[in-house]
Formats: sequence, structure tokens, C-alpha cells
Amino acid sequence: LVPRLRPFTSTIFAEMTALATRTGAVNLGQGFPDTDGPAGMLDAAKDALFGGANQYPPGPGRPELRAAIAAHRERYGLRYDPDSEVLVTAGATEAIAASLLALTEPGDEVIVIEPYYDSYAASVAMAGATRRVVSLVSEGGRFALDVDAVRAAVTPATRAILVNSPHNPTGTVFTRAELAALATVCVEHDLIAITDEVYEHLVFDDNEHIPLATLPGMAERTVSVSSAGKTFNCTGWKIGWACSTPELVAAVKSAKQFLTFVSGGPLQPAVAHALRHELDWVAELRRSLAAKRDRLAAGLAEAGFAVWPSAGTYFVCADVRPLGFTDAAELAWQLPERIGVAAVPVKVFTDHPDEWNHVLRFAFCKRDEVLDDAIARLHKLA
Ligand code: PMP
Ligand code: GLN
Repeated sequence: LVPRLRPFTSTIFAEMTALATRTGAVNLGQGFPDTDGPAGMLDAAKDALFGGANQYPPGPGRPELRAAIAAHRERYGLRYDPDSEVLVTAGATEAIAASLLALTEPGDEVIVIEPYYDSYAASVAMAGATRRVVSLVSEGGRFALDVDAVRAAVTPATRAILVNSPHNPTGTVFTRAELAALATVCVEHDLIAITDEVYEHLVFDDNEHIPLATLPGMAERTVSVSSAGKTFNCTGWKIGWACSTPELVAAVKSAKQFLTFVSGGPLQPAVAHALRHELDWVAELRRSLAAKRDRLAAGLAEAGFAVWPSAGTYFVCADVRPLGFTDAAELAWQLPERIGVAAVPVKVFTDHPDEWNHVLRFAFCKRDEVLDDAIARLHKLA
């Protein structure tokens, strides 16, 4: 294995899920739901499978899916031409990787906000670029974006910034003020923003998802990435997309076509159906997830953790120190065997493990009885 990929020999999700399976633990580590998406979407996939849609779809994605993606972005006031400004990818993961491969050169710097989704560091490394990490700060009871720190991280070599909101793992949803300040930095320094919006629909209470591309000066410099997995409970389908200007989409497509070429042919029309007809189902999913967040957060607090509020995503973060632990990673590796629950140590998503080694991430995208079982087990920790 080449040196630049040596830090990436396995993923925390694969390891933790394997440990949970081996020990029979309740898996609140890897974020995936344990119920299916809307029946109409599943029927559409079945119809496509038996209707002959089983060969290569067009390189940029099936036209009806690109049209549905563009129509869906209009909810934010963003207009994209389905033919030249929308690209279907193998999940958000490929859209992000292809964007980095297409838009950065070895020696370029990419600003990454930590804690960061694990694929970002690997994809920056595969592109040969260098990551410059800026930490979220725990402030006013939430994890906030320190835009001054972002500004300070910019150098003449900075080419792009990766922005994930709603944010995995903290559940932070960036405010309009945070995004506006960030947009100013991007415009001032002529940066490309790659936004990871896979949790765009999973925002709770009165929080709002605001795509960075809607801010002044940003549409022409933002590659907006999202995917169907989280919105429609189909994380295994890996249907994602990137929306941007014709120039940026053409660049991303150049890389994408030699990574996977195409994927998920018969799933593409089903996702098109879902984007157009299943948003009421998604509204119900959002209500249900907000209640699950409350259920797990309350359970964790009763079990003795200090819990950060989560404004979106599948995740809630908890501080292990009130329970007398000092090493959250060590605890995470013991938890499955000790009490039968799996969680993820947040330090693995950072370049500053010592500063984050009191935080565990728990997924609440599970059936209530599964959450209750986990909560009962967590009480045994005290
Ligand atoms: N970004 C974030 C923040 C995620 O949590 C995930 C994992 N679900 C992904 C990207 C990957 O998305 P996909 O499965 O569509 O590739
Ligand atoms: N996105 C999911 C998480 O953060 C897992 C994705 C994966 O397993 N690669 O838990």
C-alpha cells in the first residue's frame, strides 16, 4: 500500500459493526436505519428490475432522475439544468471523491472541518492533495463553526473546502450566519466549496437546512452533493448526485466516469419517483427521527452521559467524563463486550485525538424497541 493511503487500511464502521455482530451488541455505531424506505419507491425499483432497466444507464445518470434532482433543488430556490448541471454518482461518497480528484492537484490544500466524515481524509489523500483541518468548537451548548479559524487556515495553496451540514457526527446544522461568513471567505479567496448535504431532510425542531450554494457568490463555486440513502432509508442503494455549473459538473464527470462509469441502473428511476412523490413520507421520517433523538438523548443522560443537543442527522454525541471515563475510544472498544452496545469514538474523525477523546457518537436511526434495549444496557455502566 502506498504511503499516502497507509492511514486508511480499515474504516471504523466496518470494524465496529464487525465487533457488534461478533458480540451480539446493539449496533448504535454505524449509521443506518433498520426499517425500509417508502413502499412506492421499492415498487418502482421492482418495476424497473422486471421492466428491463438492467443494463448500463447513461453516463451522467438516467434523464428522469437528473430532472427529479433538479426539481428537488428548486425547493431551495436553486435552478440547475438537468442535462449539464446534474451528475448522478455512486452515492455521495463517489461525488465527493470525484470532485476532489477533478478539482485538486497534488500540492493543493483542502480545508476540512473536524470532526469529519471518514471518507474525506481518504479522498483528499487519493487526490494527492493536503488536508488542512479546522475544528468545530463547543460553544453555547452546540458545536459551532469557527469561521475565523477557517480564514486563518487559508493559504495561497488552498483550493477547496469541504462543508458538511447537517453535520455527521455532531448533529450540528450550520446557521445562516455561519454559512454567510463562510461564503465570504470562499469568495474572498476564490475557493471551491464541496458541500455534503446527505442529511438535508433530517433536520429537527425549528432548524433549517440552508444549502451553501444559495448564498451570494456561491452558486458558481459550489459543488452541491447529496444522496438518496438517508432521505429514503436506502443506504445500500448508493445513489448520489452532484449539482453545479456546467464547467464544474463536466470536471467531476471526467473523474467519475473512470471510477465507476455508472451504477445502480434500476434504482435510479425509483429514486426519481421518491424525489418527486415521497416527500410526505420523508416529513414523517423526520418527525419520527426527532422523537428517536429525544428518546436516546434522554436515555443517555439518565445513564450518566452529558449529551450535546443534536439539530439534525442520525446522531447524538455524548461526553463520557461524567461517568468517570477519560478515554472514549478505549470505552467504545469495550462497550460491546461489557454491556452489549456499540458506539463510535469521535476522535477517529479528527486530526486531534486528544482534544476529542471524551466524545462518543450514538446513532438513533433505529426502531424504538432497539433504542430501549440499548438504553437499558447503557444503564449498567453507572
Ligand atoms: N457523507 C456523510 C456525512 C455521511 O454520513 C455519509 C454516510 N452515510 C456519506 C457521506 C455517504 O453517503 P453515500 O452512502 O450516499 O455515499
Ligand atoms: N454514514 C454512516 C455513518 O456515519 C456509515 C457509512 C459507512 O459505513 N461507510 O455511520
